[in-house]
Amino acid sequence: MTRILVTGGAGYIGSTATALLADRGYEVVVLDDLSMGHADAVDPRATFIEGSILDADLLRNALAGCEAVIHFAGKSLVGESVEKPELYHRVNVDGTQTLLEAMSIHGIDKIVFSSSAATYGQPIDNPITEESFASPTNPYGASKLAIDKMITSAGISAISLRYFNVAGAYQTTQGWLAERHNPETHLIPLVLRATEDNPLKIFGTDWDTKDGTCVRDYVHVVDLIEAHIMALGALKPHVHEIVNLGSGGGYSVREVISVASQVLARPVPAVESPRRAGDPATLVASIVKAKSLLGWEPTRALETMISDAVKSQAQ
Ligand code: UDP
Repeated sequence: MTRILVTGGAGYIGSTATALLADRGYEVVVLDDLSMGHADAVDPRATFIEGSILDADLLRNALAGCEAVIHFAGKSLVGESVEKPELYHRVNVDGTQTLLEAMSIHGIDKIVFSSSAATYGQPIDNPITEESFASPTNPYGASKLAIDKMITSAGISAISLRYFNVAGAYQTTQGWLAERHNPETHLIPLVLRATEDNPLKIFGTDWDTKDGTCVRDYVHVVDLIEAHIMALGALKPHVHEIVNLGSGGGYSVREVISVASQVLARPVPAVESPRRAGDPATLVASIVKAKSLLGWEPTRALETMISDAVKSQAQ
């Protein structure tokens, strides 16, 4: 049976990957320091090791017998990265360096990496292709771009998957793997918890978009993980590919609110607020390469992402 190390396997996206890999018959080892993740989100079929990717000894143990790594572990809050750039460099970049060194010691040369659309920064054109100029506008995006370059230099079999906006949830036999960030900064979970007393703040209504609010490309977490599993099968010796993952289409903040109010069958309380620093007006992925290289196409619509998020928050 193929054994895979999933770093960050207790987080929202990593725990979904762990469960889906186990469903497909992979043997999974999870390494997570629980700084963001939750131990109860780790699939019981996986072997769970609590610790950091900065711990070289622990990594060497975790990698024993593994054929490949899916690497999710890392800091992922844009705002925090602006306040603590060194932390983001140390955990994300130095942590990945430690991981690559440990893989090399074990002769493991296959990695699928959780990169980000934040590597592109303010896009010149949409949809964004993998050839688009990468110029991150915050330390989080810069750390993901530095890792992508480090992986290229390592000369191993690698695919970096650049996520756009991930949403939705996966239901296992144990229950839903919900998005449980603290603090929560993402639009869809915040839309679902908005109340008259604590309405959703719409960050900017004067953007150059269809209705003045920001446009983003949302992809269901299960579709996203399907792409990771396909990526494992598409790795080629000594080749590092970069692949965008989104839906190929965009929704404005007001459109997300409107779909959510249909799903919830009630209005979503919202107020107009100033722009959020660092937000680009529009981010939409080109998914041409994901289709051609991985044979992947997302199948779950925004309505499904929102209704799955509702069910996962309700449990
Ligand atoms: N957004 C918003 N209000 C919020 C949170 C987010 O208007 O309380 C907007 C944000 O400006 C962006 C979109 O929703 O245009 C998605 O933001 P999120 O933080 O979910 O993801 P990001 O695009 O920053 O990765």
